[in-house]
Amino acid sequence: MSLTTSLDMLRDAMEGGYAVGAFNAENMEMVQAILSAAEEARAPVIIQTTPGTIRHAQPAVFLGMAAAVAGTLRAPAAVHLDHGDSLAIVARALRAGYTSIMIDGSREPLEGNMAVTRQAVEMCSPCGVPVEGELGRVGGKEDDMEDSGGGYTDPDEAEAFVAGTGVSFLAVGVGTAHGIYKDEPKLNTDLIKVLRARIPVPLVLHGASGLPDEVVRKCVRLGMAKVNFATELRMAYTGAVRHSVMSSPDAFDPKLYSRAGREAVRNLVLDKIRLCGSEGRASHLFSRKEGARWWMPQYFTHVRTSVTRRSPRPSPGRARCSSGSGQPASAARTFPVWTGTPRISSR
Ligand SMILES: [Zn+2]
Repeated sequence: MSLTTSLDMLRDAMEGGYAVGAFNAENMEMVQAILSAAEEARAPVIIQTTPGTIRHAQPAVFLGMAAAVAGTLRAPAAVHLDHGDSLAIVARALRAGYTSIMIDGSREPLEGNMAVTRQAVEMCSPCGVPVEGELGRVGGKEDDMEDSGGGYTDPDEAEAFVAGTGVSFLAVGVGTAHGIYKDEPKLNTDLIKVLRARIPVPLVLHGASGLPDEVVRKCVRLGMAKVNFATELRMAYTGAVRHSVMSSPDAFDPKLYSRAGREAVRNLVLDKIRLCGSEGRASHLFSRKEGARWWMPQYFTHVRTSVTRRSPRPSPGRARCSSGSGQPASAARTFPVWTGTPRISSR
């Protein structure tokens, strides 16, 4: 199976009352672990990387690993940019072939958030790549960013935000936080119900690591269609590696402790897939006749070559982009390549 976008899987999740697990990967073993768990559970899955992760290794490295592993499996998988913090990084991920993008302008006032999100949608939609926006703030520490949080999403603003930006999914603030919870989070589950009733696109829950299982289940039941897990995976990987190194202090083959980390992440991802209710949903997605837009290899090649031919860095002007449905280059459309201010806000 080639990589797919997250659009069809999240729409199916919204209609089917389950959620797709979105798991942050930091290295090859975590990519393998996530996809292996998805295959075993026959579940659609999203692999995601933060800007910090793709500064550690280029987005093309993660895309290449995911595409290579996904190509040997049957479960549909998307590769998603998590918390894109500038349009420049959106352009990098898009050019690398990411099949799903998040632009996080939630630290900006509403107008600024809408403006930057709309620009990201304009960049991604001609390529058929869906965009996740965020409104209301998820607190805690994610990547290099720390936020005091406390920003519950206002339903009126959320309606206007979705209509005014054209986002495909919306991350909402309902009381969760990134990182490790020091106190029990004050989740507003009534707000999830209200948002689900009023917002026409799938909703995304961030900061699910460390939430009790029954709370995650309730959030999914009330309408969350994408649930992000990052911190718990990092802790599972590092804990298993630490244990392996300490229990075999004379071993020096990195494959030994990497395997221990991979196995721990795989088991955790299996648990989270079951928690989200997405087990067995891959076969349902395969049987959908309409909207099943599987990613074609020439899409990646065309975006990458047409942009880099103009300039080694994103430059003003327009880059060509196929429709994302595997159409030949002659049917390609264009999208603007952004080169403006490098970050949404100073951090
Ligand atoms: Zn997040």
